[in-house]
Amino acid sequence: MQIEQNSVVTLHYTLKDNDGNIIDQSDDGSFLYLHGAMNIIPGLETAMSDKAPGDVFTAAVEPEQGYGLRDPNKAQRVPMKHLVFKGKLKAGDVVQLNTEQGTRAVTVTKAGRHVAEIDTNHPLAGQTLSFDIEIVEVRAASAEELSHGHAHGAGGHHHD
Ligand code: ZN
Repeated sequence: MQIEQNSVVTLHYTLKDNDGNIIDQSDDGSFLYLHGAMNIIPGLETAMSDKAPGDVFTAAVEPEQGYGLRDPNKAQRVPMKHLVFKGKLKAGDVVQLNTEQGTRAVTVTKAGRHVAEIDTNHPLAGQTLSFDIEIVEVRAASAEELSHGHAHGAGGHHHD
C-alpha cells in the first residue's frame, strides 16, 4: 500500500540540521503519524506521498516548508523569572518561557542576573532540514483515528 491521504504511516527517521548534526531521531520503536492531517511539517509530508513500506530515502526540507524563516524581530528581553530552567543558564540553551498563552520553547542568546535576551523563533527556524527516512508500515486509518486527526498505537498518540 502506498502512502496517500488518511494513511497511517510507521517509519524510522533521523533528523539532521544544516551542518549534518543529528538533532532528533525516532526512539527504539518507531514513529507513527496520520498522513494528510498536518501531523508533521509540510515539506516532510509532501516527500512521504506515494512512498511504500521498505522505501529508504532522504528528504531535504527548506525552512519555508519546515519551521519557517528566522524572524530577526523575535528577539526580546525578559525577566529571568519568566524562564523555566535548572542550574546555570547560558547562551544557546533552549528553555520554556512562561507567557499568558502558556509555555513555549525559546533560545537564550544572553543570560544576565535578572534579565535574559531570548530569541522566540522556533529552534529549527531558518534551517534546511534533512530527514533520513525508512518506511516500515502503511495502513488505512481507523474511523476513530480520522475523527481525532492523529494516529493511535505504539509510537503514535496515547490517551489517558
Ligand atoms: Zn486520539
